[in-house]
Amino acid sequence: MLIPISSVPALRAVDSEIFTLRYFMRCMQCTFCHDSCCQYGCDVNAGERDAILAVADELAPYVRAPVSEWFKPEVFEDPEYPTGKYVRAATKNGACVFLSDKGRGCGIHAFALATGRDYHQIKPMVCWLFPICWDKGVMRPNTDVKDDLACFGTGVTLYEASRDEVRVVFGEALVAELDAIKVRIDAGTLAASETVQAALAAR
Ligand code: SF4
Ligand code: SF4
Repeated sequence: MLIPISSVPALRAVDSEIFTLRYFMRCMQCTFCHDSCCQYGCDVNAGERDAILAVADELAPYVRAPVSEWFKPEVFEDPEYPTGKYVRAATKNGACVFLSDKGRGCGIHAFALATGRDYHQIKPMVCWLFPICWDKGVMRPNTDVKDDLACFGTGVTLYEASRDEVRVVFGEALVAELDAIKVRIDAGTLAASETVQAALAAR
């Protein structure tokens, strides 16, 4: 169900499933998923692509393909991205080109840690905000969570896992609003009329 939110202009509702769906989360301790959530590549907004290419020489040893193969050529429009445009990270051998082929995990993340960089400055936002995303003003689970996520079902809730990253993107006011909604969901005190209103607003 959709619940109205008002603390940030970019969002008008949140899907209550972010507070109830669960997944394993401890990616580097997972022994069964084989990083399958990285098999399709990811959206990379144009600014993130430029930041990645700006350090291409340093990053290249962490990537499974040459620089010319990192991104698909198509450029898509989406006003909800900071730059209004995004591209797709390419895939190679059944996984995102940035997935390490020497071990587990994202090569961009490993590069950031190894070089003392804040991964938020270079790793695609959709990846560090995963498994939460937002679309047309609605914060919700990433589509892959229920359809295709190997570690879906047990562990922490999507919101618990992503709460700090939500703060990075949207700030403390939204986290406070979501925390309050979570309390009401856990207590079963959310009014049905509120969710109807949000569902209508999201059409
Ligand atoms: S499938 Fe789950 S545990 Fe494995 S890397 Fe992805 S989010 Fe982490
Ligand atoms: S950029 Fe990194 S986290 Fe994102 S899909 Fe590729 S390997 Fe996975």
